[in-house]
Amino acid sequence: MKKKFYCWCIGMLISTFLFLACSEEEFSLKDPVFHPYLEQSVHQLKRLQLSLKIQQFSCDLTTPYFNDGLDMPACQFTDFARILLGYFESFFNDKYFDFELAQYYTELHRKYVTHYRGENYYGANGEYDQLAAKRMRELTSFWNLDRKMVLNGQHTASLDDREILTDMIESFDRSVRNRTEAYRKADELLEINMLSPSLPESPYFAMDAFTLPNGLLVIGDGLIETLIEAGTDGQIAFSAILAHEWWHQAQYENAETWTEIDEYSETWQVSRFIELEADYAAAYFLTHKRGATYNWKKIEEYFRLSFNVGDCLMESNTHHGTPTQRMNAAELGFELASSEKKKGMILRPDEVHAFFIKNLDKVLDL
Ligand SMILES: [Zn+2]
Repeated sequence: MKKKFYCWCIGMLISTFLFLACSEEEFSLKDPVFHPYLEQSVHQLKRLQLSLKIQQFSCDLTTPYFNDGLDMPACQFTDFARILLGYFESFFNDKYFDFELAQYYTELHRKYVTHYRGENYYGANGEYDQLAAKRMRELTSFWNLDRKMVLNGQHTASLDDREILTDMIESFDRSVRNRTEAYRKADELLEINMLSPSLPESPYFAMDAFTLPNGLLVIGDGLIETLIEAGTDGQIAFSAILAHEWWHQAQYENAETWTEIDEYSETWQVSRFIELEADYAAAYFLTHKRGATYNWKKIEEYFRLSFNVGDCLMESNTHHGTPTQRMNAAELGFELASSEKKKGMILRPDEVHAFFIKNLDKVLDL
């Protein structure tokens, strides 16, 4: 019965707003007016077939759940999924909750963190600021990529801040023509926020974790908070997500030479490859003695507890690999980091990539 409710709940949420949140042409949001983002990577301009394939995947760690949730009974519900469902239940119990507004917030916020450039903090109270700076430094020297990374934090508090909310509305809401109108709309929304216990306080409104080919990385407080509730260590979760997204930048950068995915005809196969390799490379960095130096037990636990971020939706276009495949990938990364011969040595991205290709059958459990 409960499972039925969950399925219904997910299904309803997908059809009402979650699925829409993933679409490109959403709502009446417009392109930015005062946070223009002009920087385009050289790779984007080259537009090779391969890089196009890769660029279809702006990795979003939360999307797989929502794209095709009704298939989920094939996979067991994890703690992470239960926590998410708890958020949804709280929406149903909130008489001021509005699905359209929730969708509006989700999209507005995603656009904002995509285009925002400026001061940043990480974690609701800046609790990951130092860690973020440290890991960014480490990853920069670890993989030595030829691109500038920008890490944007995403915070539910932004949707409750009059100036920031007005910025978002003025920048992206097509129904608003100027800042005065944006203030008016923001004030109306802030009144609803005051009444509602879940808008926008629910971690759900800062669940983004993605990366784009221009060097942008985004990590939402809500996702970290949810992972902590699922039992993971916040510092490890933050580090793991950052390292995973960072590897996607290596994939963008090497898109012309890492041609193995050309052999895949299905989008989900490409997605699975890209995501499993990012898990593998993240585990390599996280357990490397010149990387984040975590012991394997901790990393294994992180991957186990965050599995619902992985999925069993084999044919979903954002397929991240099954839980077993994700763990295999992580184990392979650890194996490489700890192998006697390579101890202390940091392998170049192309070497890390080659080792993954060599062991792909093992990861896929074929
Ligand atoms: Zn990814």
